[in-house]
Amino acid sequence: MLEIIRIHNELLGTYGDRGNADVLKFRASQRKIKARISDISYLDPLPKSGDIYLLGGAEDAAQLLSLTALRKGSILARAANKGAVVLAICAGFQLLGNKYATKDEEFAGLGLLDVITTPGDKRLVGDIAVQTDLFDFPLTGFENHSSVTTLGADAKAFGRVLQGNGNGVAGLDGAVNRNVFGTYLHGPVLARNPEFADLLIERAVGEPISPIDDELAQRYAKWRRALI
Ligand code: GLN
Repeated sequence: MLEIIRIHNELLGTYGDRGNADVLKFRASQRKIKARISDISYLDPLPKSGDIYLLGGAEDAAQLLSLTALRKGSILARAANKGAVVLAICAGFQLLGNKYATKDEEFAGLGLLDVITTPGDKRLVGDIAVQTDLFDFPLTGFENHSSVTTLGADAKAFGRVLQGNGNGVAGLDGAVNRNVFGTYLHGPVLARNPEFADLLIERAVGEPISPIDDELAQRYAKWRRALI
């Protein structure tokens, strides 16, 4: 059973990233891999047994509430250390870093990724395309944020920005550390990029998964890439 943990959707659900869980479950089921989505509220402890943990984008106040809840017990960091897959989008990505600052205050992040996030001077909104090392084609998405993210010495970017802004620093987007992925790509990113969904399932099950006939999803992804 593939345990997909959708973290704090009531806080981190503003930008529709909840769809990432549905795409993973659907594409796993097409391979006869049983998958279950557990929605975990910020009022409840995070399960330790997740195979894939998902965090979405949010407004600043909701993001801070989520961060406070996730600090308890360091469950996410422990799961990631054991090899669990973590996909964190925008606000979710920012709170995995070492530090997150608003205009008024600074907060320690969860420390899963060596990045810091600080307020930017304008809102970064629009289509975004990123070339990662994972695929020989770009991933596409939509970004909507004002903070910018700087990589620390130990951090590797998720990818290079071909269109849009991403981290807003050095032409890079996101960060990656083993099975922990942070990116600014909403979309939901796994609906826009089915190959990335399959890669996360493979990382979670620890073996290659069979191809499926997903002509429509492929056609959609290719059409999006053609617009870059
Ligand atoms: N509040 C954060 C920012 O504006 C995150 C926004 C988001 O998750 N889309 O940078």
